[in-house]
Amino acid sequence: MKVFRTISEMQNWSHGIRTAHKTLGFVPTMGALHEGHISLINCAREMTDKVVVSIFLNPIQFDNQEDLRTYPISEENDLLLCEAENVDAVFMPTYEKMYPEFYQTNIQVKEITKGLCGASREGHFDGVATVVLKLFNIIQPTHAIFGEKDYQQLVTIRRMVVDLNLPVEIVSRPTVREEDGLALSTRNQRLSKKERQHALALYRSIKAVQATFKNGERNADRLLGAANEILNDEAGIMIDYAEIRDAEFLHPISRVDKDAVYAVAVFVGLVRLIDNCVLKV
Ligand code: AMP
Repeated sequence: MKVFRTISEMQNWSHGIRTAHKTLGFVPTMGALHEGHISLINCAREMTDKVVVSIFLNPIQFDNQEDLRTYPISEENDLLLCEAENVDAVFMPTYEKMYPEFYQTNIQVKEITKGLCGASREGHFDGVATVVLKLFNIIQPTHAIFGEKDYQQLVTIRRMVVDLNLPVEIVSRPTVREEDGLALSTRNQRLSKKERQHALALYRSIKAVQATFKNGERNADRLLGAANEILNDEAGIMIDYAEIRDAEFLHPISRVDKDAVYAVAVFVGLVRLIDNCVLKV
């Protein structure tokens, strides 16, 4: 497995893959890899000839410096995991390589990033779109794989790829969960045992929305009512948002007449967790 720490090394390797007319699957991550990331790597492995994983804790997407400071890092273990999953190359640039002095440019995907996580994390999605575009330009993958766990991020990247005519196919994979339903997240490491129990309310709220939807309810307020009953009952969490939106553009909706997403974010102590489920019509 190759490990590249400079942009030119990464570019040279990718160039070789392209000139050999091979497909290249790319999995962007911020490290501290878990089974959720591994499922994306496996997807790339199945779809493409070569697989590259990036590990870059991107400071410009953090609106909260404490969140950045406490974000788990496990470089050595990440490399071992990638090697075990037959990853061909890992790209681990430094901050200075990605954002040299006088760096000025920012990508903004407008409407889609305004509500939900965008409302409480100012500049977050600009940071995500900017780093993903930079990584696409450096690596030039044929495919890039993202998790549905970060639903608004996925919709934002899909929009950017369409709007800017980027020659990459975006592939998404379902959320990987613990046995009790908690979505795997690097930030779960920061939960105490008690907080982890409180965090299960997220999944219970998803189950409640899904069950209500299955019973034929299409009114968004009533579907949300089922979620809020669970979330409000859980004293150990603070709701950031719980909303039902159109699945493609994330427009607010009052009825689920086409595919929609129930998206939820809560604070459990100092840790902010998100989850979602798609309601397919
Ligand atoms: P991160 O390292 O948190 O930036 O995540 C990198 C990629 O892994 C993103 O595309 C995430 O959506 C995806 N991801 C994170 N957690 C999960 C999960 N539990 N299941 C599936 N994909 C995930």
